Parts: sequence; C-alpha cells; structure tokens
Amino acid sequence: MSSTLSSGVSDAPYDAIVVGASFAGLSFASAAAARGMRVLVVERDAAIGRVVRTTGVLFSEVLDVVDVPRRYLLNSVRQVELRPPTQPPISIAAGAYRFFMADVPGMLGWMADEACARGATIRCGTPLLDASREGENGLMRVLLGGPSDGEGSGAARAPARVAHARIVIGADGARSRVAECLGLDRNQRFLAGAEWLVENVAVDRETFYLVMDHELAPGYCAWLAPHGEIAAFGVAGHARAFKPAESLRRAQAAFADVADLSGMRVVQRKAGIIPTGGRLRHVHRDDARGRALLLGDAAGHCGAATGGGIYPALLAAKLAAHAVANEVLNGQSGAVSAYLRALPHANRLGPYLQIEDWLRWALDRMGSNADVAALYALLGSQEGKRILRHTLLETPIISMDGGFFGLLRDVLGRHPSLYGSAVRAALRRVTARA
Ligand SMILES: Cc1cc2nc3c(=O)[nH]c(=O)nc-3n(C[C@H](O)[C@H](O)[C@H](O)COP(=O)(O)OP(=O)(O)OC[C@H]3O[C@@H](n4cnc5c(N)ncnc54)[C@H](O)[C@@H]3O)c2cc1C
Repeated sequence: MSSTLSSGVSDAPYDAIVVGASFAGLSFASAAAARGMRVLVVERDAAIGRVVRTTGVLFSEVLDVVDVPRRYLLNSVRQVELRPPTQPPISIAAGAYRFFMADVPGMLGWMADEACARGATIRCGTPLLDASREGENGLMRVLLGGPSDGEGSGAARAPARVAHARIVIGADGARSRVAECLGLDRNQRFLAGAEWLVENVAVDRETFYLVMDHELAPGYCAWLAPHGEIAAFGVAGHARAFKPAESLRRAQAAFADVADLSGMRVVQRKAGIIPTGGRLRHVHRDDARGRALLLGDAAGHCGAATGGGIYPALLAAKLAAHAVANEVLNGQSGAVSAYLRALPHANRLGPYLQIEDWLRWALDRMGSNADVAALYALLGSQEGKRILRHTLLETPIISMDGGFFGLLRDVLGRHPSLYGSAVRAALRRVTARA
C-alpha cells in the first residue's frame, strides 16, 4: 500500500478532511483530489479493510461507477435460490451476471492507492474525536486521536492533535461521529448482521442461497454464498429482535440440503449494522456551527430492504466531489445544495431507494412464518417468479420506475388478503412519488 498511509498530518489547512476510508470516503477522496483539492482521509481502524463489516456483494451497476479490477471480483453470480421454512425452494436464473462477490480488503486497498496516486493523504489508526467551526478564520477545527502502538484496550495512544480543513466529509458509516458533532441527521433504525467466512464447504460458485425464516432472521434473511474458493455464511435481522451469532449457529440446518456445513471451519467473523430508515434529510450544513457533508451510510444512502449500500455510497460520493470542489475551490456557493437536490435523479438513485424503502415497509410487517409463507406463495407462482427474476436479476436500477411498481401492484392486487388495503394504499403513494 502507498507510503502516504503513514505520512503525518500537516499544519496547513486541508481543503477537505474525509472521515472514514471505506467505499464512500475513498470514492470521494479520489474524485476530489483529481479535481485539485488537498484532501486528508482519516480512518480509525489500524489499516484499510482490516475490519470488514460487509458481505461485499456488488450490483453490476458498481462497474458503471468504479472500474473494479477483475482480480477483486471473486465470484460472478446469476442465480438466486430463495428457501422458505416449509415450502419448496424458488430458483431464478439469468444469462448475464447481475452480482459480484468482492474481495473487500483488496478492493478498498486498491481504491486507497488510487486516491493516494491522485494526491490524497490517508492516515489510519486516526479516529475523529470532534469537529467544530473555528471562530476567527471560518475553518473547521478537527480533533484527531493519535495512532496507537498496538491493538486492544492495553495499547498506548499518541496524544490527540488538531488539524484544519475548509470542509469535513462524514463518510464514517451508520453511526456517524461527524453527524453527532455537527448536529446533522443521524440514522435511527438498523438491521444487525453477522457473517462467517467458512472453509471446507462446497457451494455452487454462481448461486446465492437465501433463507427467509422469521425465527432465524426477523425482517430479513440468512444467506450462504460463494466467496472465491470458500463460502460466506451470514444472517441479518431487526437489531433488537434476535441474536445474530446464535441465529447463525441455528441456520446451519436450514441449508442442510444445499451444502454440508457440519465440517466447516470459520476463518473470519464479521458483524455490523445496516441503516434502514432511508435517506436522511439534513446531511449538510455551512453555518456558524460548521461546514460538513455526510455521505454513504452516514447519510442513509443504503437500500433499506436489501442492505445494499456499496453502490449508493460509491455513486453519491463521486458526484459530491465535483460539487464540493466547486464550492470550496471555485467559491460557487450553493453547489452542494444543488448536488443534494440533483442526487435522487442521478442514475435514478432516488426511485431505487424508494423501492427499497417500500420493500422494507413490507418486510417489517412480517410478524411470523405464516406471513413469510403467504409471501412465498405469491413469489412461487409463475408470475411471481417472473417478477422476482425481473427485479433481482434483469432490471437495471435506471429502469426501476413507476412501471415496476405497477407490476408488483398487479400481483399483490390479485391476493388482497395478504396485506389488504394498507399495502395497496402504500403502493399507490409510492407509485405516485416514483
Ligand atoms: C453484515 C453486513 C453485510 C452487508 N452486505 C452488503 C453487501 O453485500 N452489498 C452491499 O452493497 N452492501 C452491504 N452492506 C452495506 C454496506 O457495507 C454499507 O452500505 C457500505 O459499507 C457503506 O459504505 P460507507 O463508506 O458509507 O461506510 P462504511 O463502509 O461503514 O465505512 C465507514 C468507515 O468509517 C470509519 N470510521 C467510523 N467512525 C470513525 C471515526 N470516528 N474516525 C475515523 N474513522 C471512522 C470506519 O472504521 C469505516 O472504515 C452490508 C452491511 C453489513 C453490516
């Protein structure tokens, strides 16, 4: 990795200090540095990609935004198998690859090198502690924790130090410290997820297996997926309604006829939270309190139903860099506000996140496995499968529009007993906004 990772923090003010060296932070840093901004990225983890909190499933649209080198795309996926607790599995497949399973540490390391090559400086082991506007010069005063000499609670930390910037970018995930320091909106609703990377398990290299079971994963699902030569075995659900690690142990039986998990060896354990409350509104400020912009999970740019946040983070951050450079370097006031107004129209990100919001609304109403079974009865029909295939494997995000909602409404309308008039009302509302 680039030598700039260990270089110091300079006393001269930066144009932007980016908090968080993951998908949103590195995407922003690279694009901002390319536009001539002097950028410092601070990351609290000791190394980029050291703590992986994501499965790393990439929608194929990611390749429209970042030209991810082939070596970081471990598996290409074109088949999904949904497994209800008691009904037969529903399998859908397509000719073209729709998802890729990424080597996340490798991809983030490569993104960091790209950002450094364009002139950004990255400091790991450097948490943001506080940020506020300094009275006399209007700059942001950023308090950074010093790097530690090891890991764990016994490690000694160098003293905190101050850096200055014209703007602070909060790309620091679902529980953003930047949002907290600057009084911006904060995510309130979450799914909790846990995943094990496991050896000694043979799974098909092009298929995702998903189990929806209210007891195992309330509000979401458990999954088994190929991850290069090994497999990813995970679960996510409503944060306070279940214990992810315990569910993972129990979920092994649910995949028994897909793969033999009895001899698996866990090589890595991951855990994290997924924001499910939708896009946050107040994600930017430029006033006496401070100048800051939130990106990625910190801004709620994450699919509330699927938990897919990598593509929105990459896209929104890249576009934000142009606006921030206009405002900070060109003095064009209002450029960031204009970006925020335009963002929902970029690659139809807004309608897509609305679809995810609606699906989350429906998933949150699954109160038992009887509800799950009713949903599967719909999805298992010929038409249900066609819609599933269309949704999950064929339709690009830029084509997910009101017509797409119409398809869903047609199917659900034929089974009014499932959700009744409340669902139809919600669909009408969302269709009208899409
Ligand atoms: C279990 C799980 C599985 C998931 N699977 C997928 C998937 O397959 N596909 C998909 O698209 N999405 C998935 N997601 C969601 C996806 O991981 C996120 O939407 C995405 O990582 C958001 O990127 P980000 O850059 O905004 O934030 P993050 O990736 O969360 O990165 C935030 C960074 O900020 C750093 N940071 C935090 N606080 C500070 C601080 N005070 N100072 C300095 N640094 C700080 C963190 O260490 C981290 O590196 C999953 C999430 C979870 C929890």
